[in-house]
Amino acid sequence: MHMRFDVVVVGAGPAGAAAAYAAASGGLKVLLVERGRGAGSKQVYGGKVYSHYLEEALGDLKGAPIERWVGKERLSIVDDAGRTATLEYEGGSTRAFTAHLTKLAAWLVDRAASAGAVFVDEVRVDSLRRDPSGRFSGVEAGGELVEADVIIDAEGVNRLLLERAGLVERASTRDLALGVKEVVRIGEKEVEERFGLDKGEGLSWILVGGVTGGLPGGAFVYTNKDTVSLGLVLYVDAAARAIEEPVHSMIEKLRTHPALHRYWADGDVVEYAAKLTPESGYRYMPRRLVADGLMVAGDAAGMLLNLGYTFRGVDYAVYSGYMAGRAAIAARDRGGPTEENLRELYEEPLRRSRPFRDLWRLRGVERAMEGGDRYFRRYPALMGAALRSMFELGESTPSIYEALRGAAEESGISIIGALVDALMMARSI
Ligand SMILES: Cc1cc2nc3c(=O)[nH]c(=O)nc-3n(C[C@H](O)[C@H](O)[C@H](O)COP(=O)(O)OP(=O)(O)OC[C@H]3O[C@@H](n4cnc5c(N)ncnc54)[C@H](O)[C@@H]3O)c2cc1C
Repeated sequence: MHMRFDVVVVGAGPAGAAAAYAAASGGLKVLLVERGRGAGSKQVYGGKVYSHYLEEALGDLKGAPIERWVGKERLSIVDDAGRTATLEYEGGSTRAFTAHLTKLAAWLVDRAASAGAVFVDEVRVDSLRRDPSGRFSGVEAGGELVEADVIIDAEGVNRLLLERAGLVERASTRDLALGVKEVVRIGEKEVEERFGLDKGEGLSWILVGGVTGGLPGGAFVYTNKDTVSLGLVLYVDAAARAIEEPVHSMIEKLRTHPALHRYWADGDVVEYAAKLTPESGYRYMPRRLVADGLMVAGDAAGMLLNLGYTFRGVDYAVYSGYMAGRAAIAARDRGGPTEENLRELYEEPLRRSRPFRDLWRLRGVERAMEGGDRYFRRYPALMGAALRSMFELGESTPSIYEALRGAAEESGISIIGALVDALMMARSI
């Protein structure tokens, strides 16, 4: 069988689906190839999507499988004893929603198919094909060749095709984080009652410290319509050195954590999933995002921002995929998808874009995260000891300073060192 398309998009995640939608909307003949069964079956994420770039790319979110608009943001530091300090933000205007990524990806693929893209699932692309001049000219899958003027690689974090084509090095454990997640069904009414939410309102909750056993990373809780998504993200390099138990038992501990389990008590675990994610998009980014006949988008291109309290992967993937699809159209009208054209039409505008500039500006977060034990175990312990002195009162009543000083002495931490670290962390993120 011999097939030819204007564009072949590899991977029907948010980036690939948006790329196929954009290119097909401009009249190009597009093939979108996914190795999983149906769109979305291979997708795993936490649960919250910022709407801005989706609206910019798609025009509207009509029919999107939105579970809840986030009306409450919560950040908690938990110490090893389960003492928790929480900051809550509510009353602002909603710019993010919770969704199941499997459904969101399927909806995006439907949009691409409605615009005219051909979607095939259960087909794994084995390699990117080059012609004798070195130009990328198609993909090979199961012994078949599909030719294309341009390929958009949106294969996600595990970018084996780019590796095989010699465009990126094998990922180092320093650049990756592992996410594990469970979805627990408790019912719509219970979601609202237990989390103190209005009808249709959602909660996004990030926790650090004792919830990861002090390992660098964090935990998340997102409320869906009648379920709760909870999970952990662990930095692979640090975890590989210090982890003392399998991750499935760590998530079990999170689910049964004394400070948390009442939120989903008696619920049914209806999903368990795990997946890698780039730890820092900027560091994960390939040196070049284009070659002759090829563009790279989404996680494969390092388009992901993780500040610990904010995770922007899906919206940045949609944004970069959409730009790649638009660039494919513009290249057709400009003499074809040569490397030079794709650099001018895709890579340079992407590098000038707000998401990319934010990735560059906030790249220092990696250094902060590498401060490991201090941020994820010792400071939560300091916080726990200080709060205990402030709130578990007996005969005497300490001032905040006295509580902090006592906690610092107890945990062997210098207050000045902690303040310097806090300032450096604040500057990095
Ligand atoms: C635990 C976890 C929590 C996260 N939480 C959030 C969050 O709350 N909010 C957020 O915005 N982001 C979050 N992210 C990040 C987000 O999931 C990604 O940034 C986003 O999915 C990237 O989209 P993508 O299309 O680039 O890649 P993916 O979603 O990974 O899609 C790639 C697709 O390509 C397919 N594919 C790969 N290789 C081939 C091949 N050879 N042939 C055919 N198909 C192939 C895969 O099957 C897959 O469907 C999280 C990630 C993880 C792991």
